[in-house]
Amino acid sequence: MARIVQKFGGTSLATLDRIRAAAQRVKAEVALGSEVAVVVSAMAGTTNDLVEKCSALSPLHDAREYDTVVSAGEQVSSGLLALALQEIGVSARSWLGWQVALRTDDAHGKARILSIDTAELERRLANREVAVLAGFQGIAPNQRITTLGRGGSDTTAVALAAALGADRCDIHTDVDGVYTCDPRIVRQARKLSKITYEEMLEMASLGAKVLQTRSVEMAMKHRVPLRVLSSFEDLPGTLVVDEDEIVEQEVVSGIAYSRDEAKITLIGVADRPGIAATIFGPLADANVNVDMIVQNISEDGATTDVTFTVGKADQQRAVDLLRDLEPQLRYAQLRPDPDVVKISVIGVGMRSHAGVAQRMFAALSENGINIQVISTSEIKISVLVAERYLELAVRALHTAYGLDGD
Ligand code: ADP
Ligand code: ASP
Ligand code: MG
Repeated sequence: MARIVQKFGGTSLATLDRIRAAAQRVKAEVALGSEVAVVVSAMAGTTNDLVEKCSALSPLHDAREYDTVVSAGEQVSSGLLALALQEIGVSARSWLGWQVALRTDDAHGKARILSIDTAELERRLANREVAVLAGFQGIAPNQRITTLGRGGSDTTAVALAAALGADRCDIHTDVDGVYTCDPRIVRQARKLSKITYEEMLEMASLGAKVLQTRSVEMAMKHRVPLRVLSSFEDLPGTLVVDEDEIVEQEVVSGIAYSRDEAKITLIGVADRPGIAATIFGPLADANVNVDMIVQNISEDGATTDVTFTVGKADQQRAVDLLRDLEPQLRYAQLRPDPDVVKISVIGVGMRSHAGVAQRMFAALSENGINIQVISTSEIKISVLVAERYLELAVRALHTAYGLDGD
């Protein structure tokens, strides 16, 4: 008998009719004889609304109270889906994170899952009762509710699948699979029938929000068979698999973009040993995550320019810190620029092919797009460009790497 975890995202549960439709999908899986656990997101728009309410009341809110508030959407949708299942004759009950218990650390707002007690769930699954677990939430060691970061229900689903030793984890969403690029930006994007864990991990961490990055990390670590598919149509979806399961590997499998970037440039910094540590040490201590970095060679041997990127939410904090550091750094100018995007091409085939970066640079230059920062790893190349070029750049690259479908 198969054991399946099904996850439904917010758009897939946005109305009572969609909740009824999701219940039918669960019923169909139960009818195949499977043991089924379901993980739900909040109904579309609910979490954003709750986040806004917290910010409106208290701009620098207490993260513990934030979690109490924003976790509430999943409580509602888990109860509603359990009711919809009962209405169509499927035995089901809802579970909140603390009831399971799904234990996390105490990093409120971005907690990590430590353990999931599955004994009671397993007993009930064996009795043919569907478990409907509220995604995105858990309980900290101090008994307070935590949340796993935006998009965290994907991670709840994969963690539950790993803990239950599930045969498959099905992520039902509002697109019918993982595409070569966000289909909302590139109309010619093609659905991938398979993608490797590694590529999916890069795609997610570089901005493709179809799966939360941590969910892919966890699927990769525990080898959870993962499928991304539509909630609305009966289509095969995309399987996330090991590299050796893909026979014909493309050089580039996908393109991702992130608007969540801000560039900061320090002009005329003293070029002496220890300067990078003086800039980036305090930023790290303040929990500001730095992504891309370039430092120019100094022309005069005395001063240099340093450019780096941080998340948009951290920009102001980074700028304030650097202003405080001015007496030590003695830079000539500090220039923040939030109007940038990061565009990345991803593919495990890059390991064995030369010229991949060159094709990217040529395509961007043919379209008059200036590259501000470049960073590479074994299976990806990222560039930072002005935000106004986002769609042009992504479409040009999609064509340049032969990814366009019909
Ligand atoms: P859910 O609410 O089901 O969790 P999300 O909105 O979090 O759904 O993720 C699905 C969205 O991810 C899609 O609507 C799509 O716009 C976006 N997306 C970004 N990149 C990709 C990609 N490469 N393939 C598919 N979808 C993508
Ligand atoms: N509801 C949460 C969010 O909007 C978690 C999720 O949907 O995965 O981020
Ligand atoms: Mg999501």
